[in-house]
Amino acid sequence: MRDTEEILTCPACGEKMTKLRTPNSDFFIDVCDKGCGGIYFDNRELERIGDDIEYIEEFLENKTLFNVSHENQRICPDCKAPMVETYTSPKKEIKIDCCHICGGKFLDYDELKKIKKQIHEGFMKKMLEIKNQGLPR
Ligand SMILES: [Zn+2]
Ligand SMILES: [Zn+2]
Repeated sequence: MRDTEEILTCPACGEKMTKLRTPNSDFFIDVCDKGCGGIYFDNRELERIGDDIEYIEEFLENKTLFNVSHENQRICPDCKAPMVETYTSPKKEIKIDCCHICGGKFLDYDELKKIKKQIHEGFMKKMLEIKNQGLPR
């Protein structure tokens, strides 16, 4: 994973993205707060985001955002490779754009609420597993 100072261009709408520092995870997430509300995660950031997803949601809530088409091919803002739409879970509820070169992931704003639920469910499951085993992981 690398956090660059470089300002990324939103792969969905072409606006400049803003670097947002997450309070708990302590890394930078690129958010499209002047355009479509999309969020770009570096390799593995999405897996590690946890409760900070709510911080991002709150940050975007008061912004003036516009809708973008999901149909267009997105290009990875980091390494410029074409991104591939990939399901995030076996339930196939949410499709996000993934870059298979650098591992970057782009989440549309309307998918944020859905993925938040998934993150919480995953988090809860992990908590239960720890409880059952009686061992920290
Ligand atoms: Zn955008
Ligand atoms: Zn990439």
